[in-house]
Amino acid sequence: MITLEGSDGGGQLLRTALALSLITGKAFRMTRIRGARPKPGLMRQHLTCVLAAQEVGDASVDGASIGSQEIVFTPGKIRSGDFHFAIGTGGSTTLVLQTLLPALLHAAEPSTVRIEGGTHNPMAPPFEFIDQCFLPVLHSMGVNAKVTCERIGFMQVGGGSIFAELQPIKKWKKLALMERGALVEHFGCVMSAHLPTGIEEREIRAASKTLDWEPDLIKRMPANMSKGPGNILMLGARFENVLELSSSVAQMGRSAENVAESAARGLKNYLSNEAAVGVNLADQLLLPMALSEGGKFTTFALSNHTKTSMELIPKFVDVHFAVKEGERGVKTISVKSA
Ligand code: ATP
Repeated sequence: MITLEGSDGGGQLLRTALALSLITGKAFRMTRIRGARPKPGLMRQHLTCVLAAQEVGDASVDGASIGSQEIVFTPGKIRSGDFHFAIGTGGSTTLVLQTLLPALLHAAEPSTVRIEGGTHNPMAPPFEFIDQCFLPVLHSMGVNAKVTCERIGFMQVGGGSIFAELQPIKKWKKLALMERGALVEHFGCVMSAHLPTGIEEREIRAASKTLDWEPDLIKRMPANMSKGPGNILMLGARFENVLELSSSVAQMGRSAENVAESAARGLKNYLSNEAAVGVNLADQLLLPMALSEGGKFTTFALSNHTKTSMELIPKFVDVHFAVKEGERGVKTISVKSA
């Protein structure tokens, strides 16, 4: 039984532990889950991750209830199939998918997964991040997976749906993502549902000013099929080897200019560096890299998610991570078999 303390990180630690437990067959106990968060313990999205992992891995679980700060997870055998999970709130569907995806790649047969909830949430990868940033890197590592956004859903109402088609992985390839390559294009997109159109215009104006872009680089995408109101601004840069997407979700009490500033500053920060991998993608690549027992990428800032994942992953798999400081703030994260 692996014993883990969850208070140094957020839900990401729990999701990483669930994914690795399913793949390695090792049971774990996690205490103080999200212990330092204002509302500690399992929220709806985290509980869905636990229950979904239980179903996919034929696992037994103690402590799977809302607000629980401790779970014991004992995995069985990963099964393939056509799965359907509903979060029941606007909680993030993409975070549930990230929990299940690594395990289902290790199933004997292909699987599909439909997840209902939020598709464009604060503090989580929007659907486009999974589709355009995360999965293409996994494809280069030998993964065969496709995702579709069936219906957009925003916090709080949710009602969105994503669908993933996953083939068993034949052989993991080691990642070497050291250079971005040449810039191909800048692009942006704003999605708004059931909100005054002036908000989109203000976001486009503010973001183009900060990035010094022509405003028509940022397109409007209709999102009125969403059940509830919501708005997200996504700003991207496509390079030969990688795509970075910085996003910001509107919330009550936040001005359109503030939403735009935060997405634009995220992208500007990435563009002012040379490293290949942005801050969010960096923490999400650690687990697949550990499964391929080797690989490296360059990045420029280590988030708390990255640091805590680099500590947690070696408790399940026999690898170690190293961070090497390079010139102009570029850091190389590498993983090797221990
Ligand atoms: P908590 O409420 O405890 O923080 P959580 O389940 O909401 O828990 P985190 O532990 O904060 O989630 O993990 C969030 C994950 O979402 C991280 O992997 C992070 O890289 C990713 N993420 C957050 N914001 C974005 C974004 N704008 N674009 C892409 N990925 C994002």
